[in-house]
Amino acid sequence: MECRICSGRLHQFADFGRQPVSDAFGTPGGTASEFFFHLAVGVCEDCSMAQLLHEVDRERMFHDDYPYLSSGSAVMRAHFDALAKRLLATELTGPDPFVVELGCNDGTMLATIADEGVRHLGVEPSGGVADVAAARGVRVRKDFFEAGVAAEIRAADGPADVVYAANTLCHIPYMDSILSGVDALLSPGGVFVFEDPYLGDIVERASFDQIYDEHFYFFCATSVRAMADRHGFELVDVERLPVHGGEVRYTLARRGARMPSTAVAGLLAAERAARLTEPATLRAFAARVAANRDDLVALLRRLREQGARVYGYGATAKSATVLNYCGIGPDLVSFVCDTTPAKQGRLTPGSHLPVRGPEAFADPYPDYALLLAWNHAEEIMAKETAFREAGGRWILYVPTVHTVGAS
Ligand SMILES: [Zn+2]
Repeated sequence: MECRICSGRLHQFADFGRQPVSDAFGTPGGTASEFFFHLAVGVCEDCSMAQLLHEVDRERMFHDDYPYLSSGSAVMRAHFDALAKRLLATELTGPDPFVVELGCNDGTMLATIADEGVRHLGVEPSGGVADVAAARGVRVRKDFFEAGVAAEIRAADGPADVVYAANTLCHIPYMDSILSGVDALLSPGGVFVFEDPYLGDIVERASFDQIYDEHFYFFCATSVRAMADRHGFELVDVERLPVHGGEVRYTLARRGARMPSTAVAGLLAAERAARLTEPATLRAFAARVAANRDDLVALLRRLREQGARVYGYGATAKSATVLNYCGIGPDLVSFVCDTTPAKQGRLTPGSHLPVRGPEAFADPYPDYALLLAWNHAEEIMAKETAFREAGGRWILYVPTVHTVGAS
C-alpha cells in the first residue's frame, strides 16, 4: 500500500472490517445489493498522513440524494456564520473580493457572504444540497472540484482571495489535483482555509466513528504541513475547533507570503511530544477502540437481558462505523430516530436498523438512548430534557462507554 499523498510506505494501524457506504440508507427489502468495502486505516512513514487503505468511488458517496445538511444544527449555523463574518472582515476587504467554497453543501457559510453582495462561488457535487444553496441566493456550480474545474473558474471569474472548505478536503483522495487547482485559482496573497476532524482529537478521545468511507484523510499539523510543502504552500495558521467532535482549521498561503502564527509551532510541538503520528501510538488507539467496542456490546446485551428498551438517536454517517464494527442490529437497538426526512422509513446501512422520525422517540420514551450523534451531545441533551426527566439515560461510547441520566 502506498501513501496517496507522497507514495511513501503505509503502516496499517486499525481494521474495522466490512463496512457499507455510510449514507446509503436502503429501503426495507431492498438491501440485497448493498455495497461493502474494507475499512482499514494506515499512516505514512514519510509524510505522516493517516489515511484509509481502500477508496470508495466518489459517485457512490456524493450524489443527488446525499442527505447531510450543514444547516441542520443551530451550533453549526452559528459556527459558519461567525467564520463568514471573520473572512469578510479580514480577507475579503479588497475592491472586488472573490471567495470559492469547495463542497459548499446547502450554502450555510456562503449565504452570509452572498447577503453582503460579495462575489462567491460554491462548488458542490451533490445536486440536492446544491439546489438548496441556490435557492438561498448562493451561486453554485454542480461539480467535483479538481484541477480542470479550478482552471475554468479562474478563467471565468479571476483569482480567488479565499478558497474555503469545511469537512470536505478530508473526503478527497486525489489531493494532487485539489492542491494544483487551488494553486491555479488563488491570488498571490490569498489563503486556502479548510477545517476537518483532527487526528489528535480522534486519538485522544478514541472517537473511532470519525473513521468511515467519506473521511479518507485524518489530518494533523504535521501531515498538512508536509502536504502543503509539496505544492509550494506553507501552513501559516491553525485553530482548534470544538465542532464535530474536534477539528482543526488550517490556513495555507503561498510559501513566503505570510508569517506563520505561533499557533503553528505550538501544535507541531504538541504533536511531536504526543508522538501522534507514530505507528505505536496509533496501534494503541486501535486497541482502546476494540476495548470500547467490547464494552458497548456487553452493555447492550445486558440491557436486552433485562428487558430494557433501547433506541438509537441520530442516524448519522459516522454511526455506520460503530453499528457495523460492533455488530449492533435490531435485536440490540429497536430503531434509530432522525430528523432527516430522506432517512425516515429506511434502514441504516449494513446494520439495518429502522429509521423513524423524531416523534417516535417520545412515544413512549425508551429506557436508554444510544447517542449516535455524540458530537452534538450538548445540543441534543438540552433539547431532550424531558427524556431524562422521564428517567431515561443516554449511552455514550466516546471516550469510553458510559451512561448519562437521572439518578
Ligand atoms: Zn505520505
